[in-house]
Amino acid sequence: MNKIPSFQKNHNALLPGFYFSTLQQGVATFDLRFKQPNCGDYLSPAVSHSIEHMIATAIRNGSAKDNIIYFGPMGCRTGFYLLTVHLPPAQALRCLKEAARAALLMPAVPGAKKIECGNYKSHDLPGAKRELQLYLQLLESLTDAQIARQEALYEAAL
Ligand SMILES: [Zn+2]
Repeated sequence: MNKIPSFQKNHNALLPGFYFSTLQQGVATFDLRFKQPNCGDYLSPAVSHSIEHMIATAIRNGSAKDNIIYFGPMGCRTGFYLLTVHLPPAQALRCLKEAARAALLMPAVPGAKKIECGNYKSHDLPGAKRELQLYLQLLESLTDAQIARQEALYEAAL
C-alpha cells in the first residue's frame, strides 16, 4: 500500500504549529499541531474530545463557516485536522484564532449531553481551555514569514 501524505511527514522534526498539509479535490487540510510528536506530552482523550466539540462549534458559527468541511482530532492526540475549501492559510488562521477566542468564552462544552455525543462523560472543559489558551498564544506568535511560507505552499498546491 502507498504511504499516505500524513505519514510522509518527518514527525521527528515537527514542532507545535499551524501547517498547511495538502490540497485534494479543492479541499485543504491543515495540521494544527498542539504538541511535539513523541515527546511524552499528549492531549488527554477528554481534552481532545472537548476541543473537538468546542472548536467545531465555534468555527462552524464563525465568519467563514461555509468554508469549513471538518475539524477533528488526530488519533495520536498531538493535534487536530482542519479541512476547508477556498480558504488560504492566512484566512484559515484568522478563523481558527477567532474560534479559539470564542471557545475560551464557552461556559460549557457544546453538544456534551448523552443524546448529543458518543462518549458524553469524557469531557474536560478547564483542561480544554488550558490547551486552547496555549495554542492561541502560539498562533498569535506566528511571524509574517511563517504565515507567508504556508501561503506559498498552498499557492504551489493550487
Ligand atoms: Zn462527543
